[in-house]
Amino acid sequence: MQRQQDTKKITVTSPLLPPLEEFIPYLEDIWRRKWITNNGHYHQELEKALCEYLHVPYISLFTNGTLPLIASLQALRITGEVITTPYSFVATTHSLWWNDIRPVFVDIDPQTGNIDPERIEAAITPKTTAIMPVHVYGTPCDTERIQRIADIYGLKVIYDAAHAFAVTVNGQSILKAGDLSTLSFHATKTYNTIEGGALICHDPKTKQRIDYLKNFGFAGETTVVAPGINGKMDEVRAAYGLLELKYVGGAIEKRQLLDTLYREQLADVTGISFFDRQPGVQPNYSYFPVFVDAAAYGMSRDTLYTRLQERNIYGRRYFYPLISEFPTYKGLPSAAKDNLPNAHRLADSVICLPIYHDLDPQDVKRTCDVIKENAR
Ligand SMILES: *Cc1c(COP(=O)(O)O)cnc(C)c1O
Repeated sequence: MQRQQDTKKITVTSPLLPPLEEFIPYLEDIWRRKWITNNGHYHQELEKALCEYLHVPYISLFTNGTLPLIASLQALRITGEVITTPYSFVATTHSLWWNDIRPVFVDIDPQTGNIDPERIEAAITPKTTAIMPVHVYGTPCDTERIQRIADIYGLKVIYDAAHAFAVTVNGQSILKAGDLSTLSFHATKTYNTIEGGALICHDPKTKQRIDYLKNFGFAGETTVVAPGINGKMDEVRAAYGLLELKYVGGAIEKRQLLDTLYREQLADVTGISFFDRQPGVQPNYSYFPVFVDAAAYGMSRDTLYTRLQERNIYGRRYFYPLISEFPTYKGLPSAAKDNLPNAHRLADSVICLPIYHDLDPQDVKRTCDVIKENAR
């Protein structure tokens, strides 16, 4: 029989929704203005507010987090081959495919889950034009090492920073690294605009080019300067994003308490490991991935995953399967399993445990109790 406390369903995440009554006046204002998309008032306000909040000079809003990836490759005219990680959400690699670029997968550092800089140089060929790393779970990549390699070989660096909203290293925004960084504001992310995203750049010329690209390439009423796409964010979601910005800081603080609780509760469970907090890094606590060592824990990852579900606790196996395992990419030489041993090990052992701003600490304890009960 299921225990009373088990009946409440615990999901891996839950969207941060600003109070509806505070959103209504924004909607009324948009209705008054009768300007509902195409670089309207709230679009401009949100770009300004995000530049301040994130401490970056230029940001271009998009309608989701995938189009800025696709547009970033267009903006920098990337061709040929791009070095990237298989341990991410599929959109990272799909953006290369949509630009007719061949992804070259490089294994990850098991301490961080991020692309291993040690292995990048061996993957560079005459066709390589860029590196597309991911700050996976919001953990910063070794951006200095990656930049040194990029400088030596004349490569661009585009970070998929979808998980890294507001993350800083030694007080500096992680979004300042590389040539461009992209963000996702999808409902499941720490900061959301329901659907949404952004591209961060460091100079006004690039910002201008990105703004053309996301608006069909229009540079004036009758001037089209590039084969652009429609990536524009509308006024309703830009206004929502402005309001959301007032609440995201508090949400990150609440996530931090839950992250700490998980670390305390799971510290001594044999066969369960998690990433260390990194010195100098201010995280956003977007995810709480744990890794199950089946031999030491006494149960496989998938069995634990199912046991949790039987107790109404829904973790997610981010990122399993690896991107390199999907049919589109599996045939690539760099997708070979023996090229990516660390990525396979993490993908085969990971469960992201529930974490979000209003998750009850008791639910974290309940989740950890199930993990402890099943331990050898
Ligand atoms: C969420 C996500 C994206 C895509 O974002 P959407 O807003 O859903 O299009 C890209 N990369 C990573 C790593 C993501 O997690």
